[in-house]
Amino acid sequence: MLEHVRIHPLCGACSYAFIPGDEVISLIKRLDNKIEATYPASKYLDSLYCHQSNPHRMFCRLPDCIRCASAKQAVTVHKDCLELFERAHISSDTLSCLWTMATWRSPWHDAPILHLAPSSTTEIKEYIRRAAEEWKLPGLESLPMELDLLIYEQLPQSCLRRYISLWTVARWWIFEYNRKLLTISINEIEKWHRGTRPTIHMQAETNEHNGDKSFIRLSVDSQGLRSIERLKPGSANNGLLESNPALYIVEAAECFSTASIEYMFPFARLQLTGGLEENFRIWDTPSPPDWKDCVIDYKYTRTKSYLSTLNARTCNGITFFTCCNMIWAIHAHTSAQPSAQSTFKTLNPKQQAVAQWVYVPISSGDFITAFGWSYTDNQARFFLRLKLAGEVVVGSTSNITAENIQLIKQPSILIYERPDSQKITFVGGVAEPTISFEIPAFMPFNYRRTPFISANYSSAPLFNVCRTHIYHEAGTKTCRGILVEYLDGSKRALGHCRVGIDQTEVCIEPGQLCYAPTISANPRSGLRQQSVQVVISKENAHEHDGPDWICCAMKGVLGFWFNHNDTQIEVY
Ligand SMILES: [Zn+2]
Ligand SMILES: [Zn+2]
Ligand SMILES: [Zn+2]
Repeated sequence: MLEHVRIHPLCGACSYAFIPGDEVISLIKRLDNKIEATYPASKYLDSLYCHQSNPHRMFCRLPDCIRCASAKQAVTVHKDCLELFERAHISSDTLSCLWTMATWRSPWHDAPILHLAPSSTTEIKEYIRRAAEEWKLPGLESLPMELDLLIYEQLPQSCLRRYISLWTVARWWIFEYNRKLLTISINEIEKWHRGTRPTIHMQAETNEHNGDKSFIRLSVDSQGLRSIERLKPGSANNGLLESNPALYIVEAAECFSTASIEYMFPFARLQLTGGLEENFRIWDTPSPPDWKDCVIDYKYTRTKSYLSTLNARTCNGITFFTCCNMIWAIHAHTSAQPSAQSTFKTLNPKQQAVAQWVYVPISSGDFITAFGWSYTDNQARFFLRLKLAGEVVVGSTSNITAENIQLIKQPSILIYERPDSQKITFVGGVAEPTISFEIPAFMPFNYRRTPFISANYSSAPLFNVCRTHIYHEAGTKTCRGILVEYLDGSKRALGHCRVGIDQTEVCIEPGQLCYAPTISANPRSGLRQQSVQVVISKENAHEHDGPDWICCAMKGVLGFWFNHNDTQIEVY
């Protein structure tokens, strides 16, 4: 029987995500605790299994694979990261040293894979210095920071960038500096930050006897456990100002009663016994909501990855990335993050090629009065009810048998997770404590027809419209989406609206909407493609070039069907 070897999505040495075609090597911990490298290298593929370099082993990426769960522990590294490490390493047991370094990038043994990007801000100057040295361009070092940043961003996955990320951590493991491995009970730790020695909690014993009511907040980044701090009850809501991507665990100190840390300057790692990690929730915020205050999906059991939060009160719109009846990612638009491009980049290239940007605007006078969700293994949809803009449904347009819609009234925070960078699993949210009006339950949603597969649908009334924005496909007259603004200040979006990215054509006080459906061959895929041109004008008297135009007054409802290939609109 083939032995399964788990292939991880991130390199244990440099912590960059693998991209298809990368040459990877697995390190496996054998039963005698020796570390074995699986030569020759395999090719990392964008599929469930990697290229088979060894006939006796299956290099596996299948989510939740039972065979992998019972297989020997493994880490995955770039072939060239391993070679760099071997070249720099001076003692005999290179693989054990790399193994320890890679496993300490995880905050505890068997922690979920968290997909944390390597921190970049401190690396840029180092990157330029090394590049200047390597390419013999001394002038490079005197460039202003803005240009350094530009060069750095042009080479997102360069070998040099990975090398710096590797070296930042590896130098501590390669030159051991007479460091000792200490094990310290977490009860004794007042605070610790990577790069410092732990501050010992003077009242450890007293608290143990009196019942410690404090909280412990851990932060984790791409290098592993970053900090431990003890918080007084009620102070967990004090946010931290840290610029690099990090995740947080905030739990009552009693949850850590039997936990300890393995500490070897400057790093530390949690040691958990007795299934303690089952109690931990990992968050994208240092001030997560109190779990007791959350409305949680009845099917939710435990976190597979980390919980993402969306503040429904501070965002001015939400873009849902959808495809194939599922939701793949969510972006909250704020004044600091007006475009959803950064979230789009977290999708893998295959998802990016087909993802639809479904934008739900929330105007300044409007807010979400109810948020509902329902899903099966291969379909998901979200229901939003806005005070002014009305109801919006996002996601699958196929009927779900015995649909069970779960609901949060007047949500302030929405919570979801995206295990293995796959589809969104909606977890729940926090409802405003005081709800001033009754919210009717959502009605099950039945679409009239779906004109093509994986179709999304959006609609908007055409009366009381004060302004429209048509989103065009780059360099063409093809309409991909329309944003409609109403006299009461509300907004609705139709189709594929890439806010802040695509060119728009604005019409104030529109009087006429005309559209011309066309069928052609998609220039990229060659597939038959239904598309549409739309003209919205103020004047009723007008003419068109061709015979295929349908002219409508601004009344009735505009319906918009779309997927990554086709668009079809209707006025009814
Ligand atoms: Zn690497
Ligand atoms: Zn497997
Ligand atoms: Zn017309």
